[in-house]
Amino acid sequence: MRKTSSGSAEEFFPDKLTLPSLREAAAGCKACDLWKRGTQTVFGEGRRAAMVMFVGEQPGNEEDLAGKPFVGPAGRLFDDALEQAGIDRSQTYVTNVVKHFKWEPRGKRRIHKKPNAQEVSACRPWLEAEIKVVKPKIVVVLGAIAAQALLGPKFRVTKQRGEFIKSTLAPYVMATVHPASILRAPDAETRRLEHRRFVADLKKLARVMS
Ligand code: SF4
Repeated sequence: MRKTSSGSAEEFFPDKLTLPSLREAAAGCKACDLWKRGTQTVFGEGRRAAMVMFVGEQPGNEEDLAGKPFVGPAGRLFDDALEQAGIDRSQTYVTNVVKHFKWEPRGKRRIHKKPNAQEVSACRPWLEAEIKVVKPKIVVVLGAIAAQALLGPKFRVTKQRGEFIKSTLAPYVMATVHPASILRAPDAETRRLEHRRFVADLKKLARVMS
């Protein structure tokens, strides 16, 4: 029997790396303790040879229940912004740095909790395998946690959002905000402005994709 908390998802890798075999193997991952808290592993989803891959932080409450990434309120905002930017979601691949929902109870609600460095590091091999198989031309990192995990602790989304930066992840790499942060804006006007800025960042991708 396998030990729990080996510290690296690689221990659970299938012999052959394909999206279906990775998804199946990730369903049984116990490389960190988050498998005990989430309902299920939420693996990435999308086109096998997608030109663009979006990488968020971790699944939220609705994603955890559905087993699919970006289907909750932030996912709906994301879909809307993609549409406004002229990007067809079915042509993309969406995933997260961490594949289980980390939460803490608040009354009857499950409140999102940031994954720690150990959990991010344990889960990272799944993302690396997804990038290896999909080989996207563009990787878009959504939000500060994903950006710091993938682009280094000094990376600041607030300063460098919307810029294409040098990275070994893909030929084109950009970071922008996580759609959930737009939902958390303090008022409707800020939310509208932030949504517009997000769409403007996504429009830059549409140009590289054509
Ligand atoms: S969060 Fe990632 S590393 Fe941790 S158990 Fe889930 S799939 Fe495995």
